[in-house]
Amino acid sequence: MVGILQKTILHIDMDAFFAAVEVHDHPELKGLPVVIGSPPDKRGVVSTCSYEARKFGIHSAMPSRTAFQRCPKAVFLPPNMKRYHEVSQQIMEIFRRFTPLVEPLSCDEAFLDVTGARYLFGDGPTIAKKIKEAVKKETGLTCSVGVAPNMFLAKIASELDKPDGLTLVPFSEKEIPAFLAPLPIKRMWGAGKKTQAILEAHRIRTLGDLQTADPAKLAAWIGESSAASFRRLALGVDGRELETESEEKSISNEITFDIDERNAAVVEAALLDLADKVGGRLRCAGFYATTAQIKVRWTDFSTITRQRRLDPPCCDDITLRETALELLRKEGLHSPVRLIGFGVSNLRETADAPQLDLFQALEKTTSTRREQLSRVVDRIREKFGRASIQRGSKL
Ligand SMILES: [Mg+2]
Repeated sequence: MVGILQKTILHIDMDAFFAAVEVHDHPELKGLPVVIGSPPDKRGVVSTCSYEARKFGIHSAMPSRTAFQRCPKAVFLPPNMKRYHEVSQQIMEIFRRFTPLVEPLSCDEAFLDVTGARYLFGDGPTIAKKIKEAVKKETGLTCSVGVAPNMFLAKIASELDKPDGLTLVPFSEKEIPAFLAPLPIKRMWGAGKKTQAILEAHRIRTLGDLQTADPAKLAAWIGESSAASFRRLALGVDGRELETESEEKSISNEITFDIDERNAAVVEAALLDLADKVGGRLRCAGFYATTAQIKVRWTDFSTITRQRRLDPPCCDDITLRETALELLRKEGLHSPVRLIGFGVSNLRETADAPQLDLFQALEKTTSTRREQLSRVVDRIREKFGRASIQRGSKL
């Protein structure tokens, strides 16, 4: 029985999204192995591929060259982000017909809290079926849905039966641990390759192993906070609420160095790379940022953030790189760096300041030119992969 206080969460994930859009738009590709990403004669990777291509062992993030070796007759196509963005908005709009509580995770994936919607549209599986039908009818595409009492379980469930699946997680607290127990450790949220390797070395291979692991030992292996959160999630307990802001409020990226980094040039290069990535995401989302921020975690785990206003608001790599570097140099590297991050916030949809004086107008021309340049770089990277274009100098 579904308790009155229990939530109903759906996780919806489009199947092989980019490839599926291409096959839908070009029906002659139906049934063929289709690979979206860099062409095989260039450096770069596979972004998405059709299920027919997956049969040859092709998967996303694999070098396109390897994909070509595995299946020379595969059809390679460059990504058409504009078109995928269009379809993405279409599916998100369908989701919002059923509930205003939608948290998009990426352009083809979202959580929906349909707890209240049950009274209007029927129980979780019924809503899931209605959404799948609407998506299929209006976009021609299929998606896989997980229905569960919380976000962690819903996300796990949507992956269990792909493509075109609908998986219902048991809602009884007694049955949930047994449902999770056989799943491999890689399903755990926040368990990266390193953590997986540590756990596997200690014979923790499934979520069931995590459920019964000695808490003290687990904490010693992977740290107290990961141990606590993994144990809770492995038992199916997840109290997180959806974050349903309709617009992205901030965009950021960070990296942790394998060994705490003392070399300023290495830290700066990493920061500039992060600024590029954030810039790319910002332009893809169609926003301009008014604040840029760096984050530095030192070797003793103390963490600082430093921010600066961007005026006029911008989305180009050059300004973001300059700002990131200035903020870092002003702070100085006084001890080894454990983690470096860069982010932008206070996003808006245009670069226009409400009142533009002459000086600002001049500034604006520079930033417009920088923006155009960054967008050209995006298009080259979209076509030929990230490594295809590098800057001549640090800036
Ligand atoms: Mg997907």
